[in-house]
Amino acid sequence: MLITATTLLVVSILCIVSYLLVREYRNTEQEATRSAFNLVQLIDREVRNTVSLYDTALVSLISLFQSHALDSFPQPLQNTLLFHKASELPSNDGFYLLNALGEVIATSTPDIALGQNVTDKPWFKVHRELDSGEIFISRPFQNSGKDGDWSIPFSRRMSAPDGSFAGVAVAQMKLDYFTSLLRGLDVGPDGNISLFRTDGIMLVQYPAMPSITTGEDLSRHPNYMRLLNEGYGSFIAMSDTYKAPRLYNFSQVYNLPIVVVVGLSTEYIFSNWWHTALLIGTATLLLCLGMIWLTLLLRHELYLRQQAERSLAELASTDPLSGLANRRVLDKTLADEWRVAQRTGRPLSLLMIDIDHFKQFNDTYGHQIGDEAIRRVAKIINTHMRRPRDLATRYGGEEFAVVLADTDAAGARQLAEDIRASVDAMEPVLPGKQKLTVSLGACTCYAKPEDDVQVLLSMADKALYQAKKGGRNRVVAINETGLNAIKPAPGTL
Ligand code: GH3
Ligand code: MG
Ligand code: MG
Repeated sequence: MLITATTLLVVSILCIVSYLLVREYRNTEQEATRSAFNLVQLIDREVRNTVSLYDTALVSLISLFQSHALDSFPQPLQNTLLFHKASELPSNDGFYLLNALGEVIATSTPDIALGQNVTDKPWFKVHRELDSGEIFISRPFQNSGKDGDWSIPFSRRMSAPDGSFAGVAVAQMKLDYFTSLLRGLDVGPDGNISLFRTDGIMLVQYPAMPSITTGEDLSRHPNYMRLLNEGYGSFIAMSDTYKAPRLYNFSQVYNLPIVVVVGLSTEYIFSNWWHTALLIGTATLLLCLGMIWLTLLLRHELYLRQQAERSLAELASTDPLSGLANRRVLDKTLADEWRVAQRTGRPLSLLMIDIDHFKQFNDTYGHQIGDEAIRRVAKIINTHMRRPRDLATRYGGEEFAVVLADTDAAGARQLAEDIRASVDAMEPVLPGKQKLTVSLGACTCYAKPEDDVQVLLSMADKALYQAKKGGRNRVVAINETGLNAIKPAPGTL
């Protein structure tokens, strides 16, 4: 029970601690996801505002151009007024207009030559084929002429009043702008923020990783495939680049083909949790081991105590000289068996055994030899105890009593005679010297409810007296019907 209770206690403690740690882990993950999403939302809004600014500039550029309001001004002034609003936009890398043939007809920057033909550009083809009425965000490109900076083109279709294709208005924005937007946002060690096109083309990553560059197509990476497919959400997955699990939080910017991804190192997110888990885990484990150790110690102590109690009880119930049960046990057993006999109506027998002429034996050979004689007789009596409820006791001095539960007169007489014969046949304690014999009084009773057990004792004693009187080395049996002497076996006297 002690072991079961401790096991239950240890299992309960482990369950509770595990539950708390798992809950703490989930809370940490939720907390990290929440703050990462706040970042995603912040960047989302900034990107949307920036694109919206460029879109507004493109729309007003187109309407100004198509209104022909500036036609009366000289060409340089016309150009300045046309691109006036555009020039104020942050990180603007040039605005230009194309006619339906794909030729540059107006430009805000000398880097784009007038008359240049761009019909091969994919976005030009898109606008020519389809009037979406929306801003189109193209793949980023690297400026070859300057210092290799990356820009991203935003474009809008120009339609004639009849809806036919009339050209394209294009705005180029330096991608550095997004980098400066992301700079200063804290994503912890190994964390980063990325902007992608929905087709998997990397736009910006901060902090920049040397292994992934702007313009790279990441649509085949399993993690990017997943976030591009889902469009919004978060998950923890193994990163090929960092070779460690990461928490990805991502969202597509409104209806734009741009996805914002905040990737956090799970090692960083859960570092505090690991610290707590290690501390609490170790303390709990030590506590449980301590409890198990104390339980085992207690069990061992209880075992020792039980053993001590058992040997004490044995000592208290055993006669030290003969090794038989003592008088105390006789009294208790006799009283118990008497009650059983009264209840069941079964016979109960008692043998009183006394060594003959023992005083003389003692006086002749000394007390030590006398003790040895008592031990040997006791041993012989004990060898005749075959049923579980048979009890041999030392009554006192050189006298013994045997309780035979559920044994009738014939059985008791037979057993008494067997004991007598065995003692008679015993080798002398001192070789060649005086042999020992015993006299036995046997009594069998069918106890009635009103009878007292003392009757059985005194009748057995009376029978023993008769055996002594009759010449010793013999059995006298007595029961309710009176005395009934058994003659000793021929030649034993
Ligand atoms: P009887 O045949 O009539 O029984 O004669 P007895 O001499 O055996 O009986 P008695 O009662 O006169 O003597 C019993 C003797 O048993 C007295 C004592 O010397 C001896 N005795 C009693 N207890 C012990 C014991 O523990 N050790 C030894 N060595 N002798 C004992
Ligand atoms: Mg005696
Ligand atoms: Mg005697």
